[in-house]
Amino acid sequence: MNWPGIIEAYRQFLPVSDKTPVVTLEEGGTPLLPAPRLAAHIGAEIDLYLKYEGVNPTGSFKDRGMTLAISKAKEEGAEKVICASTGNTSASAAAYSVRGGMKAYVLIPKGKISLGKLAQALMHRATILEVAGNFDEALSLVTEVSKTYPITLVNSINPFRLQGQKTAAFEVCDRLSEAPTHHFLPVGNAGNITAYWMGYKEYLKNGKISHLPKMMGFQAAGAAPIVLGKVVAEPKTIASAIRIGNPAGWKTAQEAALESQGKIDMVTDEEIIAAYRLIAELEGVFCEPASAAGVAGVIKLHQQGYFKKNDQVVCTLTGHGLKDADFCLKTSAKEKETGIVKDKKDLLQALGF
Ligand SMILES: *Cc1c(COP(=O)(O)O)cnc(C)c1O
Repeated sequence: MNWPGIIEAYRQFLPVSDKTPVVTLEEGGTPLLPAPRLAAHIGAEIDLYLKYEGVNPTGSFKDRGMTLAISKAKEEGAEKVICASTGNTSASAAAYSVRGGMKAYVLIPKGKISLGKLAQALMHRATILEVAGNFDEALSLVTEVSKTYPITLVNSINPFRLQGQKTAAFEVCDRLSEAPTHHFLPVGNAGNITAYWMGYKEYLKNGKISHLPKMMGFQAAGAAPIVLGKVVAEPKTIASAIRIGNPAGWKTAQEAALESQGKIDMVTDEEIIAAYRLIAELEGVFCEPASAAGVAGVIKLHQQGYFKKNDQVVCTLTGHGLKDADFCLKTSAKEKETGIVKDKKDLLQALGF
């Protein structure tokens, strides 16, 4: 069966009607991959799964929210959309705007987003506006403007974004025929953890699952306002997609953790990079650095003896590694020393024959 995109797949759970023009790139329907080597490597007797959101059309989970946000904007007759972005929202907004025949304006922190993401916004001909400040400053600027001018905000404070993103929780449950015991994911602006929690609760209410997972959100240590309980004026982390000091979804993320008896915790950049590499080396999955924060959280908590045997643990890998290939090459100095082959003798030696 052809996957129709998340709006058609989950229409009955979404705020759409027959009049809503569906703007889709057939996002969603992403793999839920068992990760037994990774679990064995860290010595955890858990069923570990990776929800690989990097295979969405623009390479991140943002597409789930964007298909709905853009479809609803189109339904309301919008001609322009705007967002602030650490990169993936702008890539997604740019692509879906083209698809819907709208014009996208994206504000990004100057010099702070990965080349891959910038290239996507460029190729889809979004107007890219660099802001001298950070993401948080860019977000308050676009929020203010969209309140008074005829331009639709497509950041995750647009409620349709979260409605679309909750479908990832549905997919996890549909595949496992139940909710997992734990759901780990990175937390930046805290929209996604809010969306997953909404999705799981809706599935419980509809009798699709019999229990809820604990929601386990992980911030980067240098950008961990929720963990520290205060705004971080200058968030610092290599994980650019979660380099956010004053998340819009602060309260709802805390509620998700509290209601589910999960937690919002943090991991260092070193822990994020270690997890990022392990996922690629052991499971054949290449995600971007920020995406590895959830797996880094699993490793951290396992070392504290947190899990019970046979816990079912799902980690969302939020974006594709190719978005930030630069980062991987910069941090792989040793592996870059590839051998030079001049003749057959060199080749055979390299092959170990
Ligand atoms: C947007 C994004 C995040 C953070 O998600 P929030 O909803 O802002 O918490 C994490 N990883 C990647 C790759 C992202 O693009």
